[in-house]
Amino acid sequence: MDVWQPGGRWLKGNLHAHTTESDGDRTPEECIAMYKAHGYDFLAITDHRKRFAGYQEDDFLVIPGAEYHRNFLKEAPEYAYHITGVGLAYDIAQDDRFSPQDIVDAIHEAGGFCTLAHPIWSLMTFEQALNLQDYDAIEVYNTISDVYSGRGYSELYIDMLASRGVYKRLTAVDDVHRYDRDIFGGYIMVQAEHNTWPEIRKALMDNRFYASQGPEIKRIRIEGDRVSVDLSPVQEVRFMTNSLYNAKRVAVGEGVTHAEYTMAKAERYVRIEARDREGKMCWSNIVERKEHRS
Ligand SMILES: [Zn+2]
Ligand SMILES: [Zn+2]
Repeated sequence: MDVWQPGGRWLKGNLHAHTTESDGDRTPEECIAMYKAHGYDFLAITDHRKRFAGYQEDDFLVIPGAEYHRNFLKEAPEYAYHITGVGLAYDIAQDDRFSPQDIVDAIHEAGGFCTLAHPIWSLMTFEQALNLQDYDAIEVYNTISDVYSGRGYSELYIDMLASRGVYKRLTAVDDVHRYDRDIFGGYIMVQAEHNTWPEIRKALMDNRFYASQGPEIKRIRIEGDRVSVDLSPVQEVRFMTNSLYNAKRVAVGEGVTHAEYTMAKAERYVRIEARDREGKMCWSNIVERKEHRS
């Protein structure tokens, strides 16, 4: 069974960006122009506690969004909760009485897709990520958290949660502020026929997308305990599951474009990540093993 139908139209986008409407260095117009010029199809502007109203022009989509937070550099600087909402029908009047769960619930009430932003940058505990309910995705990669803070990769949260039966979608985003090294580093590729928010939203909810810094995932198939993936040439493919050890988990080679994996009995799900020769990564969503009965 294909995880998504091969072929079709793939749209490239970034769901996390800041502008002069909060603490970013470029205006929304400049931000949009840069992503358009770089071949992106859609962008969500997510300024701090301030919704940017989106719009559709020709074939570029600006999705309304905002980033909400608790403990933003002041209350408890040892950790933070940052949560983005995209596709928001209205702004959420967040004040400091909002708990992180209130933020998630309010984003959903406003029709938004809700992502836990950069938990590794935020130094969240796994319990905090696990106790927060119902958010839609986790940023597996956040460019500015990587290039300016050295903590950009949150795979471990995804695996810790998944091993406890909580499957979150994986996005890669820029969270651009400075518009130098923090732009065009992480994005999602979404399979949608039309570049509209309703179609992109549906594809996100249906897991018809993957996260990347460069490599392309062309096809994922799962048949019983057999998983296979086709990609652009990479040097390493990892099949990540709830098992601690499986000798065949990591496939290495020069210009690998196909890899296969046989899941062990106890493996309940799999997600695939790969690294190319430049060190650029890509990440699939989690694929649950439907046939598995424990
Ligand atoms: Zn943030
Ligand atoms: Zn941000």
